[in-house]
Parts: sequence; structure tokens; C-alpha cells
Amino acid sequence: MNIPRTDLPRVVIIGGGFAGMALARKILKEEMQMVMLDRHNYHTFQPLLYQVSTSGLEPDSIAYPLRKITRSSNKCFFRLAEVNSISAEKNTVHTSIGDLIYDYLVIATGSKTNFFGNESIEKHGMWMKTVPQALNIRSLILENLEQATITEDPEKRKALLNFVLAGAGPTGVELSGAIAELRNHIVPKDYPDLNPDEMNIHLLEGLDRVLPPMSEHASEKAHKMLEELGVKIHLNTMVKNYDGHLVETNTDLAIKTETFIWSAGVTGSPVKGLNASALIEKANRYEVNAFNQVNGYENIFAIGDIALMKTQEFPKGHPMVAQPAIQQGKHLAKNIKHLIRGEKLEPFEYFDKGTMATVGRNRAVVDLHKWKFSGFFAWFVWMFVHLWFLVGFRNRTVTFFNWIYNYINFDKAARLIIRPFKGHEEKMSMDKEKV
Ligand SMILES: Cc1cc2nc3c(=O)[nH]c(=O)nc-3n(C[C@H](O)[C@H](O)[C@H](O)COP(=O)(O)OP(=O)(O)OC[C@H]3O[C@@H](n4cnc5c(N)ncnc54)[C@H](O)[C@@H]3O)c2cc1C
Repeated sequence: MNIPRTDLPRVVIIGGGFAGMALARKILKEEMQMVMLDRHNYHTFQPLLYQVSTSGLEPDSIAYPLRKITRSSNKCFFRLAEVNSISAEKNTVHTSIGDLIYDYLVIATGSKTNFFGNESIEKHGMWMKTVPQALNIRSLILENLEQATITEDPEKRKALLNFVLAGAGPTGVELSGAIAELRNHIVPKDYPDLNPDEMNIHLLEGLDRVLPPMSEHASEKAHKMLEELGVKIHLNTMVKNYDGHLVETNTDLAIKTETFIWSAGVTGSPVKGLNASALIEKANRYEVNAFNQVNGYENIFAIGDIALMKTQEFPKGHPMVAQPAIQQGKHLAKNIKHLIRGEKLEPFEYFDKGTMATVGRNRAVVDLHKWKFSGFFAWFVWMFVHLWFLVGFRNRTVTFFNWIYNYINFDKAARLIIRPFKGHEEKMSMDKEKV
């Protein structure tokens, strides 16, 4: 791997997501050697992936090169590598580019899409955890609109213009709202041969309300906002099968569609090799103590989505969202410094800053501790928070001006089919991480 062995303790971080990056930034200048490994050479700001898939933003606005982080210190290294397994007894990780010995190992591999064992959905549906997957969705939406324009068969056209999303969590809500905006503002201008009323967006949810992780207030408001945008919501409806053309559910509802997007859940993305007792099988997440040490190991840590820390307030672990990942990353930096200096470790405490989701161009719902609000002001807060957390000054600036442009012109900047979606066989081979 071409990484010099020095007298400094070596910290290996697997994953440059929210957690890995927060940790790396805090230990860059410390007396240790840091090696970050990731299968992508960029960090992905997943909360805005839906804007890439609906042509609102170009992918480079939400991705940040990981080498930009490690370049500021000659004790830090980045390697583009898939980590295949860990040999804890030899303090070694095995990767696609060779083996690497560590003193401290941090697993920050995040999560992957959970299909709950449904192979038909995995094979024929679309999902969104990475930039290439978001681009697949963007291409498929635009290709289907193009195809619908030239299709004379009304049944075929209907299937091309039906957009079905399963899972009304924040991702499903934000994505369906953005597709509805596309239908309401872009389709009439770009596709004058199409009747926008023929384009239907269906949002399916197994539970009895949209945004189940948020307050009832947020659910009610988001439901109303989505309906105002023209999204058809089907609650208590679970997808049973999708063969690439027809979505079948547990109710009488069956919808012909060429675009089916699965946003109904995630599960941890562990690396092979640790003892079975380290992993909570049902959640696919590593059980960690209050110092983020993986159950059974002193020098292996897990942070972010992959870590399950049981606390009184969160008996099933912290929510799999960005804030716990960032806070754990920063906190572990302190503890690794303590460990190296032979000091006492400090337990992690999560500070819940609240949750939010946006619905279309100027509406959102926000749940804070004591205050729940929605509408235009919530959307303003949503924009501010996302710009604030977006990594890199360039990305913030580009995104900000893009949003202003889109807002004033009722337009979308990035509706280009740069890399046509070649079909599900290609998708399955490309998405080797199956996320
Ligand atoms: C579409 C979408 C929308 C979301 N919206 C929100 C939101 O609005 N608000 C919010 O708070 N949260 C949101 N989340 C959740 C949030 O993005 C995650 O909780 C967060 O990314 C977790 O951070 P992490 O560092 O644990 O993992 P990640 O950010 O997923 O990073 C994991 C990293 O590990 C790398 N990796 C994984 N396995 C390997 C391996 N074997 N070898 C090498 N590299 C590997 C990956 O390439 C990746 O870079 C959203 C998630 C998605 C998918």
C-alpha cells in the first residue's frame, strides 16, 4: 500500500462518510499516523442525493474529494480500496489493494439498502445510497419521459409515466416531492407533447403515516403538502413484488410502472472477520460500548450507522442519521488521543439536534426538541442547515446559487442523460456494495 511504518501509532479508518470524516479531521494534526480507506475517493453528502436523482444538482456539488482532507498532513494517507475482511488477531485489514496493519481500527462503513430479503425488488427496483445510483435514477426518469413522448400505446405510456416509490421516510417523501415538482414545472416546458396529468407519482408506505420517524405533527403536514403537490399516498401498503413492470402489494393495489424506487430502509454494512458476538445480527450493526469500542475488542471501534450503542434513551441504538455519526466521529477523536496518552476514556453522549424533511420547493417540516414547525420558514431552516453541513466551500457556493436559480426560474439545472441507464443487469454488477 506504500505507507511507511513509523514509530507513531497507526489509526486506520474504514469509510470516509460523515463519521469517518469527522474523526479524521480531528486527528489530522495529532501525533499519530492516520490511514483512511474508502471504496470511493469522495465523501457523499447523502441527504442531498435525491436532488441529484431529480436533476436539481450535479453530483459534484454533493461529493467531496477525500484526499483534500488527508493532504494537509504528511502523517495522513488516503487509499482507494475496498476492505474485504479484518483479521483482529493479527491487527490486519485485508483490502482490494493489499493488507494493512493497524494499532487502532475504526469501522465507519455506514449502512446499505435493506431489501428485507425480497429478491425481486433488489433485482428490478432502483435505490439510492451512492452518487452512481442517484445518477441511474436521474437517467431512468429522463429516459422514461423521452420514451413516453414517442410511445403511442396508451397502456405503455401510462407505465412509463407512473413513478412508484416504496417507503415514506424522509428519503421517499423528499424524492416523491421532487419528482412531483419535476412534473409540475419542468415536464410542461420540456415535454410539450406529454400531458403532465398522465404522469402519476405514487408513494407507498407500510405504516399508517408518512415520515414515521418524525412527530405526528410533521407527518400530518407532510402528508398534506405531498397531496397538494399531487403525490398519491397509499398508507398501510407493503410492496410484495416488482417484476420490472408491475408493482404488487399486500392490498388490491397493483401499479404498472417502469420506475420503481425502493426507499424503505437500511441495514448496517459490516466487514467480515470479527467474532459473531460483535455483531447484532438483526440490525447488522456492531454492538459498541459507551466509548465506541466494538464488543470484545479493545483497539477496534465502530462509529456512525454501523455502530449500535444501547443507551437508556436509545435502547435500540441511535438513529441511523448524520448527527450521531458526526458526533461519534468527533468524540472518538478525543478518546483515541486519551488512549495514546494512557488517559481515561470519556463516554459518548448524543445531543439530539432534531430532524427535518423538505417537501417540494418551499415547504418543509422540522421537529426540534420543544418546537415543531412547518411551511416556508421550515424550508428556509432546512436549506440553511443543509448548506451549513455540506462539505466544502465550493460545494456550498455552487449549491446555493443553483437553488437560487432553480427557485427564481422554476427550473432544474441538471436534467442531462450523461450516462444512460443500461438496465438492471448493469446496475447489479456496478453496485458491488449492493447498497
Ligand atoms: C438518500 C439518503 C438520504 C438521507 N438523508 C438524511 C438526512 O436528511 N438527514 C440525516 O441526518 N441523515 C440522512 N441520511 C442518513 C445519513 O446519510 C447517514 O446516517 C450517514 O451517512 C451515516 O454516516 P456514516 O459515516 O456512518 O456512513 P456513510 O456516510 O454511509 O459512509 C460510509 C463510507 O464507508 C465506505 N465503505 C463502506 N464499506 C466499505 C468497505 N468495505 N470498504 C471501503 N469503504 C467502505 C463508503 O464508501 C462510505 O464512504 C440519508 C441517507 C440516505 C441514503
